[in-house]
Amino acid sequence: MERFDLNTCIRVKEWLSTAVKRIIIIPHVNPDGDAIGASLGLNDVMLHAGFDSQVIVPNDYPVYLNWLGSEGIPLIFEQNAEKCRKLIDQADALFFLDFNDSKRLGKLEDYLSTKLTPIVLIDHHPDPQIKAEYLFSDTDVSSTAELVYDFIEAIDLLDHLGPLGANALLTGIIADTGSFSHNASRHSTYQIVGELINRGAEKERINESLFNNFSEKRMRLLGHCLSEKMEIFPQYRSALIWLSSKELKKFDFHPGDTEGFVNYPLSIKGVVFSAFFMEKNDLVKISFRSKGSFPTNEFCAAHFNGGGHRNASGGETKLPIEEALALFRSLLPQYSEELEKDFKLFIHEAGRAS
Ligand code: 5GP
Ligand code: MN
Repeated sequence: MERFDLNTCIRVKEWLSTAVKRIIIIPHVNPDGDAIGASLGLNDVMLHAGFDSQVIVPNDYPVYLNWLGSEGIPLIFEQNAEKCRKLIDQADALFFLDFNDSKRLGKLEDYLSTKLTPIVLIDHHPDPQIKAEYLFSDTDVSSTAELVYDFIEAIDLLDHLGPLGANALLTGIIADTGSFSHNASRHSTYQIVGELINRGAEKERINESLFNNFSEKRMRLLGHCLSEKMEIFPQYRSALIWLSSKELKKFDFHPGDTEGFVNYPLSIKGVVFSAFFMEKNDLVKISFRSKGSFPTNEFCAAHFNGGGHRNASGGETKLPIEEALALFRSLLPQYSEELEKDFKLFIHEAGRAS
């Protein structure tokens, strides 16, 4: 498999077959469709291949992902810490999926920092900061789920991928590409999607579960955001939506309800950079998205304690929300040149006679 270094593949295969029985698979905190899909897909394969495998998520995940992977229900560390600790203690191998920095382990970070268990990292974020024995990192891929497919093929376990695993991996790919609308222009992605469908993945069902499966209150919260809470900064080609904890309570917020809200302003002509701020317990959680070359991950790392991909990143701040918003607004002027460049890239009338 040319995506990965052949030597590493041979080493990991040998190690798995000689020294590993118990596997723990861990995705990032606040797991999304790719984190859960990639984890459950790998778990399905490992179970069928005869390993004793378990997914442990740092905290709860959106209910719309519950239908995936009935053979391997994830344990939630924040709700079942003692059992999770015991399983981690017994593990021969830890698989970290869909993150590049141990800060993204949430409350598991401290516990795992004391462990010497070998780590396999499978991820598509830039610049991995995790010390892993085996590293499978590629930023040039749609999703971690796609990388997991390549990984299991590379170590000759593809025969163990069943319909549950195929559904989970396709969920990861569809979630991270917004149903093939971004970061999905490579031939290899569609080859893998074809293989997953061959193995029983149900594209329509996945689409329904990810995009047409919301509560009435979530729909109204989205309406509220778009009509009352969206600020547009035309001179900076940017937009902002924010929600207070009071508003979230009013609309009966559940994890996952605001997934995708940050994308809406990008469908306005002329907007290439979008931010979403949300008050969450004692901090403000932030999401950034861009179209084109504007590096939201660098913006986020510089000002809002986070990172991610160029066009999709996130972070958090302990500043009160009003101050966090004021900071964001005050930063835009210094990026105006870069944002203007991307705006020009997206003017579709360019060249048309007026
Ligand atoms: P979202 O906006 O959907 O929460 O996250 C988008 C992307 O940003 C994620 O795939 C992840 O790469 C990154 N991300 C989100 N939150 C954080 C964070 O708190 N820290 C870091 N380093 N990356 C984040
Ligand atoms: Mn991902």
